[in-house]
Amino acid sequence: MQQVQYQKWKLSVDVEATREAYSKIERGSAEECGCQKCLNFVASRKTIYPEEVSILFDRLGVDFRKEVEVCHDGISEVGLHFYSGWFHCVGYLESPSSKVMLAEYADTQVYELVLEEVSQQFQIGFTENGGLYWTEFEGKPLVQIEFRGEVPWMIGEVDSM
Ligand SMILES: [Zn+2]
Repeated sequence: MQQVQYQKWKLSVDVEATREAYSKIERGSAEECGCQKCLNFVASRKTIYPEEVSILFDRLGVDFRKEVEVCHDGISEVGLHFYSGWFHCVGYLESPSSKVMLAEYADTQVYELVLEEVSQQFQIGFTENGGLYWTEFEGKPLVQIEFRGEVPWMIGEVDSM
């Protein structure tokens, strides 16, 4: 395991294992879905991630084209499109999770994802694995990299929303 620090987060990661898993994944979840909102996300991939996040992905062995999940979360007042999603890398999160527990009932815990701003249009956070993951990562300890970003519509006419 290799130590990686990014902002306040400390990770222990297996970069080789992460790269190997991504090399076996054919394409990202946006292409898998193929709807207009997802295809707009595909078009935005080269611009949505700030440079320091692209550098981080490289250090971790994460392929930015192969997010495991992406959601379209609406449109801002100025017409930008909100997206959120996540990636995984093999390893452990050493520093506190971005997933903060708000309340606890008998058998239910309510969490909120608290992400940090990298730029005005992009936020990031890290949690232990908890969401959908690519089967290529099956059986491995995983850190979940959460993001939110906003981008313009880039692929012609906006489909029915
Ligand atoms: Zn879609």
